Order: sequence, then structure tokens, then C-alpha cells
Amino acid sequence: MSAIVVKDITFHSSPAKKNLLGLDLEQLTSFFEQIGEKSFRAKQIMKWIYQCNIDDFLHMTNLSKKLAVKLDEIACIHLPEIIQEQKSDDGTVKWLLKLDSGNCIETVFIPEENRGTLCVSSQIGCALECGFCSTAQQGFNRNLSSAEIISQVWVANRAMGTTHKGDRLITNIVFMGMGEPLLNFDEVTRTIRILLEDNAYGLSKRRVTISTAGVVPALKRLRDVTDVSLAISLHAPNDEIRDMIVPLNKKYPIAELLEACRYYFSGDTKLKQFTIEYVMLDHINDELKHAHELVRLLKSIPCKVNLIPFNPFPNSGYKRSSNNRITAFREVLQKAGLVTMTRKTRGDDIDAACGQLAGKVNDKTKRKQRSEYII
Ligand code: SAH
Repeated sequence: MSAIVVKDITFHSSPAKKNLLGLDLEQLTSFFEQIGEKSFRAKQIMKWIYQCNIDDFLHMTNLSKKLAVKLDEIACIHLPEIIQEQKSDDGTVKWLLKLDSGNCIETVFIPEENRGTLCVSSQIGCALECGFCSTAQQGFNRNLSSAEIISQVWVANRAMGTTHKGDRLITNIVFMGMGEPLLNFDEVTRTIRILLEDNAYGLSKRRVTISTAGVVPALKRLRDVTDVSLAISLHAPNDEIRDMIVPLNKKYPIAELLEACRYYFSGDTKLKQFTIEYVMLDHINDELKHAHELVRLLKSIPCKVNLIPFNPFPNSGYKRSSNNRITAFREVLQKAGLVTMTRKTRGDDIDAACGQLAGKVNDKTKRKQRSEYII
């Protein structure tokens, strides 16, 4: 495991020029109208930025020289600096990106046989205090802007490139990096609009997944705005255990959370099921009686279950369940008809596995202040 060395963190002031990265089509259209240009320019620019990975107006060949120069004077496509790129033996790649504030965030690419998934961060640190997650130990600094979230996709796409057929290697985006996406609602949903926008990344909603620890009111709001795929970090078969490992549960207990999930899937959606994430913690939530309890809980809920072997980090106080315990647990679920998989641990040699993302969080908000972020 190589150590992360972040040298010479300097604090840049934000660029005076208008950053066009992270604006959705509506915002970009209104930007062009405001500067006295035709609104169709918004779609052109989007294609250049997101489909061609171009960050220099002077290289956008269907703009007149005059317009390119004008844009260059008043606007920019502002990207974070890549501080470090680490490659795992299994092909997983992790980038450490430095933001203007001097904080660093992490983004991970996970190649699989027929897809490539990018795991993006939505906050610097995290305000939730799930004891088994190392991001929680970093504390919370602030929400990321849509520009900072989408820039992770941009940087990774440029680094990974395309297949020989010209298809992008990144086919799926999951909000499973640092932070709780539903506590950064507006910026995350704006990012999703750009991910789904035909003139930008044009991804199908099946290929974009929000993972949440269960911010119930935000989950209900989400349904009004989008219907991307959903993963719920349940991790426990009852409130007693969940209160302990996902403290947010004290505010929004399991019954309310599952009700909000049902609501998300009600009405006119083509998505048929969501994913339940369940981290396997030795002798905490991995007994066979817990598996049977989980079966009863999820009966008649349209979901599949992903068992995640716990990824250890220093001073977590938890241990990964043994393979035998995970298999026995999985078999109970499968026999009861629940589609259940054990997630393969990827990138753990570079600390890129679930819950190992730490970045570098400066100016942590104090715990008391942090709880104000929990709605
Ligand atoms: N806040 C969001 C997304 C970030 S975490 C959420 O809670 O869903 C992404 C997934 O990794 C979650 O299911 C989370 O519970 C899981 N995870 C966190 N720490 C982990 C660890 N140390 N080992 C395995 N999975 C972990």
C-alpha cells in the first residue's frame, strides 16, 4: 500500500471567470442568452466539454474565432488538479484530486468484464458517523459543487480514454465515494441532470446510482426530480443494530426508510428494484438469525441484496466476517428467494475499496456543527 503524500497544498482563490463546468443545460442556455449569444451554443459547448473532453474554447472548432476569444476572456472550464493516481493490481484506479479550497477528494474507477464504474464523491468528508466507514473518521468539511462532482467524471474519462471501438470505458456512475449524496441534494441532482443529458454524458438512468444511508425526507424529494437507480445502505436487520452502526437510523428508522423506498418506486418508473447494501461485520450483524430477520424484513420489497465484506482501516474497532460466515448468510437469503450477491473487494491494495476513501479534509467542522447538516 503506497502512502498518500500531499505536498505544498496552496490555496487558490476561485477563478474570476465564470466556470461553465457543472452548469446544466438550462443554466448554460441562460448564460449564452445573457452574453448576447444564440442559445444553441449551450448544446455545442456541452458536447465539447463532456463528449470530447475539451477544456479550451480555442480548440472548439465549430465556434467562430471571435466567440472562442470572447469566451476565453469571460469564462473557463475549471478542473481540479490531479495530485496522485494509483493503480491496483486488479485494474482499479484511484485519483486524489485537489480542490481550490486545498481539500482533496478521491474518485475510483472499477473495471469489470462488461462495464466500467466510476465511484464519485459528493462531499468533502461526511457528516454521518457510521463507525465502520473511514470517511466518517475524517470529519465533515463542506458539500461539493456540481462542478466539483462532474469534474471527477471529466478527469477520469480523460485518463481512461475509450476502447478501440471508441466507446467510453466509464459506463456507470455510482455516488458511493466520500459523503452522503442526499445531504447535498441540489448539487447532486444538478450533476445527475448533466450525466443523463444527451448533449453531455447521455447515460441511462439505470447506469447512475445514488447510494444513501437513508435521509428519508430527501429520498422522498428525490422522486420528484429524478428516477435514477438507488442503493440503500441498510447494513442491519433491525433498529437495535442499525442505531449502533448507522446513527442516522435513530432519526429515520428502518420502517420509515423502507416506506420511502417504496414511494420512490411507486408510479411511472421503469426501474423495478433497488439494491440493499449490507456490510458484513464479524459478530455484529452476520449471525444466521440476522439473515432470517433480514428475509422477513425484505419480504415483498422490490430489492436485491449486495453483501459487502467489511474493508478494514486503522482503529475501526470492527472485523470483516469470515468467508464461511458470509457464505452461510448469503445462502439463507438466497434460499428465501432474495437475489443476493457478495461484492468482490476491489482496489484494497490502494485503499480504494468501499469505505476506505479518506481524501484529505482540512478545516473539519466540529461534531456539534456537523449534526446541523443532518436534516
Ligand atoms: N453515504 C452513502 C454513500 C457512501 S458509502 C451511503 O451511506 O450509502 C458507499 C457504500 O460503502 C455504503 O454502502 C457504505 O455503507 C459502504 N461502506 C462504508 N464503509 C465501508 C467499509 N469500511 N467496508 C465496506 N463497506 C463500507
